[in-house]
Amino acid sequence: MSIDFEIPAEAKAIRERVRQWVHDECVPAEKKLLAGGDYKTILGELRVKARAQGLWCPFIPKEYGGMGLGPLANALVQMELGESYLGALSMNTQGPDDATMLTLLEHGTPHQKEKYLKPLLNGEKRICYSMTEKAAGADATGMQTRAVKDGNENYVLNGEKWFSSAASVADIAVVMAKTDPDAPRHSQYSTFIVELPNPGYRIVRDIETMAVHGPLSSILGGGHSEVEIKDLVVSADDLLGGEGNGFNMGQHRLAYGRLRHGMHNVAMAQRALDMATAHVTKRSTFGQKLSSRQGVQWMLADCASELYMARLMLLHIAYKAERKLDIRQENSIAKVFLAHMVHKVVDTAIQLHGALGYSQDTPLAAWYTHIRSQRLVDGPDEVHRWTVGRNVIKAYERDGTTAAAAGGDLL
Ligand SMILES: Cc1cc2nc3c(=O)[nH]c(=O)nc-3n(C[C@H](O)[C@H](O)[C@H](O)COP(=O)(O)OP(=O)(O)OC[C@H]3O[C@@H](n4cnc5c(N)ncnc54)[C@H](O)[C@@H]3O)c2cc1C
Repeated sequence: MSIDFEIPAEAKAIRERVRQWVHDECVPAEKKLLAGGDYKTILGELRVKARAQGLWCPFIPKEYGGMGLGPLANALVQMELGESYLGALSMNTQGPDDATMLTLLEHGTPHQKEKYLKPLLNGEKRICYSMTEKAAGADATGMQTRAVKDGNENYVLNGEKWFSSAASVADIAVVMAKTDPDAPRHSQYSTFIVELPNPGYRIVRDIETMAVHGPLSSILGGGHSEVEIKDLVVSADDLLGGEGNGFNMGQHRLAYGRLRHGMHNVAMAQRALDMATAHVTKRSTFGQKLSSRQGVQWMLADCASELYMARLMLLHIAYKAERKLDIRQENSIAKVFLAHMVHKVVDTAIQLHGALGYSQDTPLAAWYTHIRSQRLVDGPDEVHRWTVGRNVIKAYERDGTTAAAAGGDLL
């Protein structure tokens, strides 16, 4: 009996359509943007076309207007979308909106779905997620923002948030705040939906980061905002998922988001390796093509190995997710691996391009500075490795071997 790596024909076909979409539509649209085209017009046109072709919200169920793809087909699609800045945006599956749509879908009341989820699914609005504070990030249970009930109808929130991605372009914010300081640690927080702009949710600034500010970065990403939350009044109707459930909902949201970043990384790394290979096959030094040097071939080989491992990890996780098996250990392993993988491949591509790689004449330099954040966002490396390591010990204590925590169920 053989292990079956055959991808179902339907999933293969959709991946092919999306690959074509990215190459034929998103990459040229990206060039128009870089040439000074209007972002809203270009993205608007792209989205109308994508939706008309049924390329819209890949993992959202069909009854909500999405493609209803399962974990495997979605992973294949996302791996293609990361090749262009406009890939995910064109199909309305960009972060941080996509994971928050899932949260609203799973936990929203009918009123919340109608008022907030519908325009998000239609691509008419954008949403941001405000959990991290200067006071607390990796250990989100240290958040200080308070929500106090004012009668039966409203909550009043006070505190601060920072690194709320896309807040300055968002129409809605999902804000976490402490509702019950006396409850058990993970039940102290609740999640609130806030319509923006709102005088109680003031964007203090978009934080300057190490990421290169290309012509597209602010319009596409919307920056990462520092936010003052002062006497922010939120109707009790806009409490999401019930009091005390904010933390668990946040974790559910991050679990999906972690995978999506990794999937986009595969496409970016693939593009970087293609660019590096194209360059070394053209460029000669000391009388020989760079591609003929064994040292250069080794560099390409290492990148190919990393990409291969990345793809296998994602396919295995998708396989487990399709069968509703527990993916937490693999998710943490892959989250860390994929962030390092893309960094290594892009770094190698820069090296092989020489000064050209360091310049902004190729997208490599911008990618390099953007992807550094991936070792921090959605839980820094050390926290995931902490969890993974604990699971290794637990598996050993339970089974007398660590295999179950190290991909052993592949065997
Ligand atoms: C580009 C970017 C976008 C972001 N977008 C959002 C967003 O949209 N919404 C949002 O709410 N947040 C967002 N964040 C915040 C992000 O989730 C936090 O930065 C992250 O959780 C880490 O928290 P921190 O920065 O406070 O670091 P800290 O919690 O202060 O940790 C600092 C460092 O300490 C180490 N460390 C922490 N705990 C441990 C441990 N137990 N063992 C060993 N080492 C440890 C790690 O190396 C970590 O990097 C974003 C961050 C970035 C950089």
